[in-house]
Amino acid sequence: MDYDVLIVGSGPAGSTAAALLAKAGHRVAMVGSQPFPCKPAGIGWVGAQAAPLLESLGASRAVLNRPIADITFLSADLAKAASPRTRETPGYFIDRAAFENALIESATSAGAHAIHGATVTDVSLREKNVEARFRDRDPIQGRILLLANGRSSALVGRIGLTATSGRCWAAYFCTPTGTPPARDKGKISIILGLTRDGGYGLALSAAGQLTVAVSVPGTRADAVSRLTRLCASLAEGERIPAGVDPQPDRLVIVPPPLNALEMETHVGKHALLIGEAGGFVAALSNEGVVPAMWSASIAAKVVTSALKSPQSQDKLMTFDTRWRLEMAEYLRSPNTDMQFLVPLIFSNQPMADRMAAAFFRGDSI
Ligand SMILES: Cc1cc2nc3c(=O)[nH]c(=O)nc-3n(C[C@H](O)[C@H](O)[C@H](O)COP(=O)(O)OP(=O)(O)OC[C@H]3O[C@@H](n4cnc5c(N)ncnc54)[C@H](O)[C@@H]3O)c2cc1C
Repeated sequence: MDYDVLIVGSGPAGSTAAALLAKAGHRVAMVGSQPFPCKPAGIGWVGAQAAPLLESLGASRAVLNRPIADITFLSADLAKAASPRTRETPGYFIDRAAFENALIESATSAGAHAIHGATVTDVSLREKNVEARFRDRDPIQGRILLLANGRSSALVGRIGLTATSGRCWAAYFCTPTGTPPARDKGKISIILGLTRDGGYGLALSAAGQLTVAVSVPGTRADAVSRLTRLCASLAEGERIPAGVDPQPDRLVIVPPPLNALEMETHVGKHALLIGEAGGFVAALSNEGVVPAMWSASIAAKVVTSALKSPQSQDKLMTFDTRWRLEMAEYLRSPNTDMQFLVPLIFSNQPMADRMAAAFFRGDSI
């Protein structure tokens, strides 16, 4: 056996699992199709739970040096605004590439073997081991497989699981603003009720960069046209610089994420599904980094106990109950009609505060 654990994917889920499992003394291989270091990917945000998760990996907190302080909720027509009060730091702006590179570095410094720029073309789950195969290199074997390959659902069926998709397409684009990074303290505007059926928009600027994003039910084209219209109205209202529009070379369009809560199981034979590959995405905010890391840290504990046990598959099966106990509330959409809720946020300060807690921390409204 080459390794105790094979991990496919070196995003936040894969590298968190790799760091924790290597720290626990297991032989870990993490395979990622991207080269290392990751290319600049723009500015993003993570919820406050990212801080303890990073600490558990021994990763540097330096990537969380921009706490989010300036939050505005906007109505779909941008006519109404509300500024929630938050008792604690709700989250942090992140340089997405620097953040991912820090996670990968924590995995390799803990002793994980990272194989960058290699795509796993197939996996086999056998009686005694698991195997990952490549087009142009030798296969590798391990005792347990963690599938952390993000929204690409290509290998999910190969471990005998069925993924269930959500319904919102997302479109993002990121551009430099020209503000010197040190002078840009950062602000985030969340456009609520962008569509009648739960779409929302986001404009965040920090460190001299601006990201505008939408998440809307419908089609890919709906997401792009919503993003274009949102940019135009934000520029008209002087909330983003004039002339900013989603140029095709900076536009990223992503299909609806899988939905962990709708999936029957995340456990295959000697295998677990984690991160976006398992639909671990917060329904209200579309936040994906924290739930990817969180699901990976639960998986790492389960895998450690499986590796020590003669009944390793029985131990792996506990993953389904453990993540549901810890994460289901956080992942779930608020059990409230948003059409009814959104107007209250602009007329009632406590409702705005509660919406912020729901958006950034997954609290119930
Ligand atoms: C433009 C954009 C902006 C975003 N901004 C934010 C944000 O600000 N905050 C936030 O919380 N979330 C954000 N998200 C979502 C967030 O990036 C994801 O939810 C999160 O990265 C999921 O982590 P993951 O490790 O599960 O998957 P990914 O980060 O998708 O990582 C999966 C990795 O697996 C690799 N891979 C795939 N298939 C294979 C294979 N066959 N063999 C080897 N490697 C493979 C991929 O190359 C990738 O590196 C954004 C997403 C996009 C697209």
